[in-house]
Amino acid sequence: MSEKRKIVPKADATPPFYVGVDLGGTNIKLGVVDDLGQSLSALSIRTQPEKGPEDAIKRMAAAVGDAISKAGLTHDDIAWLGLGSPGTMDIPAGLLISPINLKGWDNFSICQRMADHTGLPIAFSNDAAAAAYSEYWIGSGRAFHSMVLLTLGTGIGGGIIIGDLSIVGENSHGAECGHIIINDADDARLCGCGQRGHLEAYASATAVIKRTREALDAGRESSLAKRLADGAVLTPKLVAEAAAAGDHLSLKIVDDTARYLGVAITSLMHTIDPNGVLLGGAMTFGGKGSKLGRHFLAQIKREIDRRAFPLLAERIVLDFASLGGDAGYLGAAGIARLEHRRQGGTTGRGAGNGES
Ligand SMILES: [Zn+2]
Repeated sequence: MSEKRKIVPKADATPPFYVGVDLGGTNIKLGVVDDLGQSLSALSIRTQPEKGPEDAIKRMAAAVGDAISKAGLTHDDIAWLGLGSPGTMDIPAGLLISPINLKGWDNFSICQRMADHTGLPIAFSNDAAAAAYSEYWIGSGRAFHSMVLLTLGTGIGGGIIIGDLSIVGENSHGAECGHIIINDADDARLCGCGQRGHLEAYASATAVIKRTREALDAGRESSLAKRLADGAVLTPKLVAEAAAAGDHLSLKIVDDTARYLGVAITSLMHTIDPNGVLLGGAMTFGGKGSKLGRHFLAQIKREIDRRAFPLLAERIVLDFASLGGDAGYLGAAGIARLEHRRQGGTTGRGAGNGES
């Protein structure tokens, strides 16, 4: 879905320069990014969370050094470092509280330790908020004034950008769109957060696999049964392939997922009234380049048309995110840039001073 990111040479780049770091449970992606959102370098290392946060911080800081030299720069050339991380977190305190994918990293002062190791000022953000900011800055959302990104993966992340501001909230969890309630029944599906009836429990990749498995176990006819018997692994991609080939059950799974998303997005529209809503993350059902991906978007829109204020339904733009797996580090750099510019009295997403 996302094109391979072009690396620009220093001579074609526009200072100031930022480092963006996207800390994930499996990999850490990072790179040097210029004032226009162009990458001067990009690399990825394994997180190995089981070795503990201090070990990871050392390797992360070394990788930051590598990314800076690969870009032909020195630490002195870097204005700010942006760090995007999964929650739960306390953003003003620069603290990881209890991150689900980073077991044993509880109450870790990640920003202070990164600053100790790199000597750079650190802008901390939620990983989905960072991804949202990159789409707003240089991706599918660059024409929007306000937008929501939902990242569909193991869970559902959310990022809300309004007028060049990434919404953080009073307690650092202001955009947990995956936990919007779409079913208030006592036996509603159980979410990864421990509560029931949240969007994530219905429309994440994990939920899609679970719902498909339940339907197959209940004896629903599907070409998936043979694929699985032949040793295929049940994934949203497998469901998408079967749906694209005309499998009724798989298509129903895709349509139900769209319906759940449509319900949640309607609530977001009635709360925020954004220009656009983007879908990112690994689960795209083929994305914009496929008939099924476009059908998925159209089904979400159909649900919105049924439920939202007509004016909002008419004007909302639904699209897929465009920066793929690079969105996290690019957005972390973007949020670092935002912080740097705010301190210098500049606002707006345009390049250089004064433009807004
Ligand atoms: Zn939840």
